[in-house]
Amino acid sequence: MKALAVFPSAREVRIVEQDEPRIEAPTQVLLRTHEIGICGTDREICAFEYGEPPEGEDRLVLGHESIGEVVDSGPGVRTLKPGDLAVPLVRRPCGRPDCYPCRAGRQDFCTTGAYRERGIKGADGFMTEWVVDEEEFLVRVPKPLADVAVLVEPLTVATKTVEQIKLIHTRVPLERLRPRGLVLGAGPVGLLGAMTLAANDCDMFVYSREPAGSERAALVRSFGASYISAEDVTLDALFDVAGCFHLIFEAIGTPAAFGALPALAHNGIFVLTGVPAVRPPEPMEASRIMRDIVMRNQVVLGTVNAGRDAYEEAIHQLAQFMTLFPDAVRRLITRRRPLDEALEMISERDGIKNVVRIQV
Ligand code: BGC
Repeated sequence: MKALAVFPSAREVRIVEQDEPRIEAPTQVLLRTHEIGICGTDREICAFEYGEPPEGEDRLVLGHESIGEVVDSGPGVRTLKPGDLAVPLVRRPCGRPDCYPCRAGRQDFCTTGAYRERGIKGADGFMTEWVVDEEEFLVRVPKPLADVAVLVEPLTVATKTVEQIKLIHTRVPLERLRPRGLVLGAGPVGLLGAMTLAANDCDMFVYSREPAGSERAALVRSFGASYISAEDVTLDALFDVAGCFHLIFEAIGTPAAFGALPALAHNGIFVLTGVPAVRPPEPMEASRIMRDIVMRNQVVLGTVNAGRDAYEEAIHQLAQFMTLFPDAVRRLITRRRPLDEALEMISERDGIKNVVRIQV
């Protein structure tokens, strides 16, 4: 079968032929891949800036945002049957006895860094025709969501954030009011974040570089959020123009995001989801940033990866989106191309969520 693989030492990315995987344990499931989304992490891996092949191998099969169909399962599998659709979790526990989060099934909070991530770090991904995985890492998706289910994995960034915010909110008496939320960046993570927070009753604003008259801005408005273009308002001026926000959700992946901190309300939460490339030190108003965070009891929350609960919640959330604003959700998927064209699509910077569709 065909797979898209990255060879970091040879600095090559190409389609390879490899053996079809087989079920080798009673708890395993065989899936036929339907679709795989492409994201910034895939681009970084293809630029050889990130990613790691499985131990002892020279190549990594790409792809971590996947939806597949169950074709066969071992005798011990209880929750999935042939014909079901399933999304695989990305991260796998480190297996170290001293890592309590991994032992507790929350490898998204792994403390050793020895976790593996399919398609990213130490384990092959899903950009291939057939995949075998353990039942415990697969989450069933209702069939009516088939054409948008490739969005589940990127949506877990937002659903894990909501899970964490709810915990953080217990620290302070909250007035019953409609919270105001700001998303920085109108890429797939930002848009799915804005949709999630809007569906959780936040009054949402999205701030991004696209012009106010752009299609992206229209998409934001179509699900009830307001759009502010960086062409019209600088980050410094955000507070003067739009007031303050109880929650800021960063999805731009650069430290420029801290420029929005003056617009964060007292007791507010600033969520960082982007993973910037490490660059030389940049000047920052560090004392003002620290002063604001302390004097306003603010929380800066970093979040990466997601546990099973966040996947299940993402599936519910996606179903709710398909009732509330189905067109906006469908418009997030901007391109679908076969595996042979995956590499070309990875180098293209336009579109929102570009997807590889596998036809076996
Ligand atoms: C993936 C996460 C992963 C993170 C860091 C993201 O693109 O969606 O699952 O944990 O990269 O490798």
